[in-house]
Amino acid sequence: MRIELISASGDPARPNEDFAALAVPASGQGGALVVLDGVTPPRGDDGCLHPVPWFCARLGGKLTELSVSRQDLTLPEILSHAILRTAESHATTCDLSHPRTPQATVVLARWSESAVEYLVLSDSALLAEAPDGAVTALLDDRLARIPRASLATDAIADATVRNKEGGFFTAAADPSVAARAVTGELPRAAVRSLVALTDGATRWTEKFRQGDWTDLFTFVRKEGAAALVERVRALESADREERTRLGRSKTHDDATVVYVQP
Ligand SMILES: [Zn+2]
Repeated sequence: MRIELISASGDPARPNEDFAALAVPASGQGGALVVLDGVTPPRGDDGCLHPVPWFCARLGGKLTELSVSRQDLTLPEILSHAILRTAESHATTCDLSHPRTPQATVVLARWSESAVEYLVLSDSALLAEAPDGAVTALLDDRLARIPRASLATDAIADATVRNKEGGFFTAAADPSVAARAVTGELPRAAVRSLVALTDGATRWTEKFRQGDWTDLFTFVRKEGAAALVERVRALESADREERTRLGRSKTHDDATVVYVQP
């Protein structure tokens, strides 16, 4: 297995709210990857005593453990269990019914000798490369389909469209959201490698239009995961004044890139 991973905070004064993990079960058969992007609550008002990294570490840790220890569970079942267990760990101290209770986007992939299972919830991305080089983007595009006019400045922080019918869904305190995730399975022989990215890194394609998903995959494979984040940082800095591409988005976002050749 070949792995490359970078996770970089968008602001040195703030903790990184992305989470990334790779696991190889002791059997040596298969493995799993988990990437989360914690949603930053505006004004810190979320009804929770815990910082976003606390939430992401717990949810991500449980997803990682269950992905390799519970082969009998499907990925939506694993997400559901992990959300429930995370909620239980602060249900007595925090208001989990708050609309901005800590939450995260999710990318989960698990491979065995025969298959690659995947689950994507909200706007982090999973790219799968076939042995012939063809790249398939496995995306939950609900957020992109919401009319721009109905979104606040920082779309994902907009509680009016989050975890509601017609809006988009993140992993928060309600385990039933697992049924909303984009999921599927590919034959193991159809996947040569995978790239998972949070939206701080997918900006290369989605905001700065440097190329399509295949171009992005090729960039990561050839130049490396760290080079992609460096390139995004340079593009952000160049657009800081004009904001032609950045618009009203924050200049730098936490950015995570995981490349794995199972
Ligand atoms: Zn809490």
